[in-house]
Amino acid sequence: MTFVILSACINEKDGGCVAVCPVDCIHEGPLMYYINPAECISCGLCETICPVDAIRHVDDVPGEEAEYIAINEDFFK
Ligand code: SF4
Ligand code: SF4
Repeated sequence: MTFVILSACINEKDGGCVAVCPVDCIHEGPLMYYINPAECISCGLCETICPVDAIRHVDDVPGEEAEYIAINEDFFK
């Protein structure tokens, strides 16, 4: 299981989550940042520091943001 970055990161993109991730699995894309689900160890650190509350555990992603689970995964394909 992994954490997922949601739409609130678009336009914010401050990169704070990258600095705290212990396994460097958060990467910058053209629109937003993405979490590599194959590398995330689900420590939850990034969720606690995001200024716009854009990060959620995959089990807690709201229905209207569900597409971002695949969007994060697809960025690393
Ligand atoms: S801390 Fe939040 S807003 Fe900043 S890059 Fe990470 S997910 Fe995006
Ligand atoms: S939950 Fe932990 S390992 Fe996963 S992306 Fe966030 S900081 Fe990195």
